[in-house]
Amino acid sequence: MLEAVEPMDAADPLRHFREEFVLREGLIYLDGNSLGALPKTTLERMQHTLSQEWGQGLISSWTEADWIEAPGRIADKIAPLIGAGAGEVVACDSTSVNIFKALSAALSLQSDRKIMLTEAGNFPTDAYMMQGLAKSGGAAYEFLAVPRDRILEALNDDVAVLLLTHVHYKTASMYDMAEVTRRAHEVGALVVWDLSHSTGAVEVDLNGANADFAVGCGYKYLNGGPGAPAFLYAAKRHHHAQPILSGWFGHARPFGFEEDYEAVAGIDRFQCGTPSILSMAALESGVDQLLRADPAAVRQKSISLSELLVKEMEPLCEEFGFVLASPTDPAQRGSHVAYSHPNAYAMVQALKARDVIGDFRTPDTIRFGITPLYLRFADMVGAVQRLRQVCEQREWERAEYQTLSAVT
Ligand SMILES: *Cc1c(COP(=O)(O)O)cnc(C)c1O
Repeated sequence: MLEAVEPMDAADPLRHFREEFVLREGLIYLDGNSLGALPKTTLERMQHTLSQEWGQGLISSWTEADWIEAPGRIADKIAPLIGAGAGEVVACDSTSVNIFKALSAALSLQSDRKIMLTEAGNFPTDAYMMQGLAKSGGAAYEFLAVPRDRILEALNDDVAVLLLTHVHYKTASMYDMAEVTRRAHEVGALVVWDLSHSTGAVEVDLNGANADFAVGCGYKYLNGGPGAPAFLYAAKRHHHAQPILSGWFGHARPFGFEEDYEAVAGIDRFQCGTPSILSMAALESGVDQLLRADPAAVRQKSISLSELLVKEMEPLCEEFGFVLASPTDPAQRGSHVAYSHPNAYAMVQALKARDVIGDFRTPDTIRFGITPLYLRFADMVGAVQRLRQVCEQREWERAEYQTLSAVT
């Protein structure tokens, strides 16, 4: 079986990227959609940023090492990955905070509309941020979550903003961004797209879809490291919008130290406080590496790997009761593949003991993240072989695999 896919790995145009990552021999890492692997260049970059820029340059590195430019510079590198123009993206803060900023900016453009709409079962932080914002607005706003197949019919002229995750964190179902945006605009609603599971894995064209706002994550397919800065996109036509979080880095003259807030023109008003330079350095290194790969080849390989995994899993679905929880059509699927199984948590733990890292999402989902830069076709076959052993030898029944850990 493993030999059968050797020609696929040999013909893979992205195969040389794997050795650019720190990945232990024998490990099959199917969790890059939760935390991307460490690029070797990032080790050198961090060493330089720490010892030279911080250690030697101290505070002068804000200008001499261009720290102050990092949020815009890195964002302009992310822009082509998401179909944004230069000056439409800023890299800063966490995805959660950026969701809050994008939503509040969208609301500032909408008078007399009450509803913040999302999909029931969206990634929790997206809904939590909307709930918090709704509470802070007193009676002005209302939070509404409806099932995925009822989103379009829930759009009406009371909806101020629709927030959706482009690729669903559990199922990997992918929205037609242009079509949903068009339908929202028809009733005068604005849309915030969460690209956390899209950026760096599937092709995204925000401007082509006439998108309003978007946010995304730096530590998944961008390989920016744990807690990496996220990014925020606002279409040029919305740059006069005002996010509620008015920090000094969004001021027209931060070093004027003025008494009153005056937003800077352009995307920088979506910055808030001092950028986290160490994390920015790691993020830039991850993005620089990804930019060397052809996005079409990345998407194509993601599809081919996923299709192989789905095919290899078919017999296990029949024998051991796994159920594919992702779309079968690759055009409607992002870059992970999910299965449901009543013993999902214990299965994921038992797989880990066999050096295959996937993840569990409550209550019964197993996710396999497909990261085209460092996964091989042989890894798909190998992972399923090891899962078969876990099932045949009933390894998941062990007592130590039954209790949930704090992070899953
Ligand atoms: C990973 C992810 C986030 C992460 O938010 P943080 O603020 O970085 O913790 C947000 N939304 C979605 C859809 C995600 O998948």
